[in-house]
Amino acid sequence: MAGKIISGTEVAEVIHTEIKKEVADLKSRGITPGLAVVLVGEDPASKVYVAMKEKTANSLSINSKQLSFPEGTDSKELEGAIAGLNSDPEIHGILIQLPLPSHIDEKIVLSCVDPDKDVDGFHPLNVGSLSLGRTDAVAPCTPAGVIELLMRNGVDPEGKHVVIVGRSNIVGRPLATLLTGRGRGGNATVTIAHSRTEDLPSITKRADILISAVGRADLIDSTMVKPGAIVIDVGVNRVPDDLVPNGYRLVGDVAFEEVSELAGAITPVPGGVGPMTIAMLMKNTVQLANRSLKYKGQDY
Ligand code: NAP
Repeated sequence: MAGKIISGTEVAEVIHTEIKKEVADLKSRGITPGLAVVLVGEDPASKVYVAMKEKTANSLSINSKQLSFPEGTDSKELEGAIAGLNSDPEIHGILIQLPLPSHIDEKIVLSCVDPDKDVDGFHPLNVGSLSLGRTDAVAPCTPAGVIELLMRNGVDPEGKHVVIVGRSNIVGRPLATLLTGRGRGGNATVTIAHSRTEDLPSITKRADILISAVGRADLIDSTMVKPGAIVIDVGVNRVPDDLVPNGYRLVGDVAFEEVSELAGAITPVPGGVGPMTIAMLMKNTVQLANRSLKYKGQDY
C-alpha cells in the first residue's frame, strides 16, 4: 500500500498564514520586515529560487530587495554591497544565494553578513549558537523546514533513529544539530552518511526517518528503505524529459514511485521540502525583524 504523501506546499501555506499575522503585528509597531537577496551570476536554478523568494515575500507583505551582480563580480564589490545592507535599517534579513561563482570565497562572504541579519544562519557565530543549543539561534531554512514538516505531520523525531545522507554545511550538518538538540523536533538518534560511507543501504535500512540531501536522482531505491519508514527527500535534480516544454523535470534523490509503495510517509519533489525552505526564510526574516525592535527600546 502506498505511504502518505507529506505535502510541503500545504504546510507552507499554513505557515504563511501565521506569518501574515506576525507581519501585521510588526507593522502596527512601526516595522515592516525587510529581506535582501544577493545573487551573483547567471545560474538558472538560482534565478528561479530568488524569483520564488521575492514573490512569496511580496505575498506576505514583507519588503524584498534583490541585488544582482554579474558572474565576474569580485569579492570586494560584493563585500561592499553587503556592508550597505548591514547598515540599512529597512533590511532585517540578508540572504546570499548559494552557490557563489568559484572565484569568490563563500566562507569570507558569508562572514561579512551582520550576524543579526543572517537570515539563513550561515555566519560562523550563528553556526556556533545553533551548536550550543541556544534557543534564540536562527536555524538554517532548509533544516528548519524539514523539522517543521515532520512535526506538523505528527512525526516527532524524539527517540527515533534518523539517517541523514549528506553532510553539507547548509543541509546535513545543521539538520543533525537540530535533530540531536534538546528542543522541539530534537532528541533523535542520528547517523550521518556521505560519499565515503561504506555499504550505504545497510545504514539507510535502519532508519525510522530517512532524509536524503545529496543531489543524485534515484540514489535511494526501495531496497534501501525499511518498510514504514518516513522518507524526506531534500534533493533537487534536473532530469532530461522531451515531453515537457523546457526539456527537463525536477526529481529528488529518492526513486519516488517504488519507495512510496513501502514508506510510511514520503515527501514529493517538487512540493515537499522546497516550499518549506522558502516559508522558513520568511519566518526567519520576521524573527529578525522582531529582534531588531529591542534595539529601538521596544518590547521584544
Ligand atoms: P552538497 O553540498 O553537494 O552535499 C552533498 C552531500 O552528499 C555531500 O555530503 C556528499 O558527500 C554527499 N554525497 C554525494 N554523493 C553521495 C553518495 N553517492 N552517497 C552518499 N552521499 C553522497 O549539496 P547540498 O547543498 O547539501 O544539497 C544537497 C541536495 O539538496 C541538492 O540536490 C540540492 O539542490 C538540494 N537542496 C534542496 C533544498 C530545498 O529547499 N529543497 C535546499 C538546499 C539544497 P561528501 O561530503 O563526502 O562529498
